[in-house]
Amino acid sequence: MLKGDLEATEVWRSASERLRRQLHEATYGQWFENIVPVKLFDSLLTLGVSDDFFADWLRNNFGDLLHSALKGIDNVDYDYELEAGYRQDDAQNMHRPTVTASKVKPKKKVKPRNCLSRHTFDNFVVGEENRYAFAAARTAAENPAFYNPLYIYGGTGIGKTHLLQAVAHHVLSRDPDARVKYITCEEFLNNYVDSLRLKNHSEFRGSVRSVDVLLVDDVHMLANKIQLQEEFFNTFNSLYNQNKQIILTSDKQPSEIEGLESRLVSRFESGVTTEINPPGFETRLAILKMMQEEHLVKIDEDVLFFIATNLSSSVRRLKGALLRLVAFVSAMSESAITVEHAEKLLHKLLEEENVSKTISIESIQRAVANHFEIRVNDILGAKRPRNIAEPRMIAMYLSRKLTPMSFPEIGGAFGKNHATVMNAVRKIPEICLKNENLRRSVSLIERQLQS
Ligand code: ADP
Ligand code: MG
Repeated sequence: MLKGDLEATEVWRSASERLRRQLHEATYGQWFENIVPVKLFDSLLTLGVSDDFFADWLRNNFGDLLHSALKGIDNVDYDYELEAGYRQDDAQNMHRPTVTASKVKPKKKVKPRNCLSRHTFDNFVVGEENRYAFAAARTAAENPAFYNPLYIYGGTGIGKTHLLQAVAHHVLSRDPDARVKYITCEEFLNNYVDSLRLKNHSEFRGSVRSVDVLLVDDVHMLANKIQLQEEFFNTFNSLYNQNKQIILTSDKQPSEIEGLESRLVSRFESGVTTEINPPGFETRLAILKMMQEEHLVKIDEDVLFFIATNLSSSVRRLKGALLRLVAFVSAMSESAITVEHAEKLLHKLLEEENVSKTISIESIQRAVANHFEIRVNDILGAKRPRNIAEPRMIAMYLSRKLTPMSFPEIGGAFGKNHATVMNAVRKIPEICLKNENLRRSVSLIERQLQS
């Protein structure tokens, strides 16, 4: 170990003692215990953390605290920077002789139940839009119960199930004896109902509560199912209290799931919540290239460009398009496929894409809420402070402008009457004339929705 590293360790020890005194034990354990002091140079301490997600989280939530913990140690004001890609083992491994490959016992391979074998981290293309979700899922897979629960949400066909199943594969590849359960919320419901019918409820409970990692896909399906929520709540608590990893996916944030009991909302929000966004052009192209390699076919770059440009709403659709072309190429082995061919073969998918791109009131509400950093529930609620009333009016105005809905229909979607919507539609352009900031906000949201 270099001298600098030893000093880094010393400085970090002092700082972390201070942090430990200031924080709850659990918070300290979750966020600081696994930080690795990497080096010290010119009063700048480099701290190694597992991934970018972790680094950003620390910076945003504990940045100031870290600064002040490093202040004045040995009369020096140290500063810090975070570097991703370290695990706690890395620090210990610096001293340990590496085990040669031949001495490692080959592990037995165990496949997780109900998971596709290609849904692994290796087969997941990481882009700007899914970087955090990927990093968080990977960290959860490597350090179970570290982010607990981990809640991943986003639209359909953009990799939530893939990531969840990748966790299952990863955990089992590291420890074939780990008890990992992947289950969709729908299966959870069906198994629960069956268990009531067949009177083997305790068996069902055992199957979901005696696991090390529980992965539940599409928990928005819990909406409005009171009895199921009760069962889920108990399952959640039982695992959480045993410090077992829980990962959930959904198409919405917990607070946006209608009819989800508040105690579940707060449980779901109590760990790490991360959004996964539809992949941008570069990610889409990379996914297509990876898929074509998998299928051992070669499709011209301009055809891949064409698909990546025109199918942007979901990876599932992108995949459907590629499979169609692969089938065509295999059948017509002599001729290379052209953009014209692709256009013809994919016209149905392209049409569907246009329909799915039509803007919904829900997406407008979400975009407006995001922009003004309020909740969709605030927009839908009855409160009237200005910071909520204006965004609400903007959402109504944009709903009228960007969707074919009538005033009463829009009113219904906001829980208000048609006159309120008419008023908003009249007022927003007036306010925009006087208020340049607001005008810019409205036009920005409008562009985002149309892109
Ligand atoms: P969701 O659960 O969000 O609806 P899925 O995980 O089922 O979406 O993804 C749909 C399809 O797209 C799957 O075949 C999945 O493997 C693939 N897919 C999604 N995102 C990626 C990605 N980033 N890299 C590779 N494949 C992806
Ligand atoms: Mg899914």
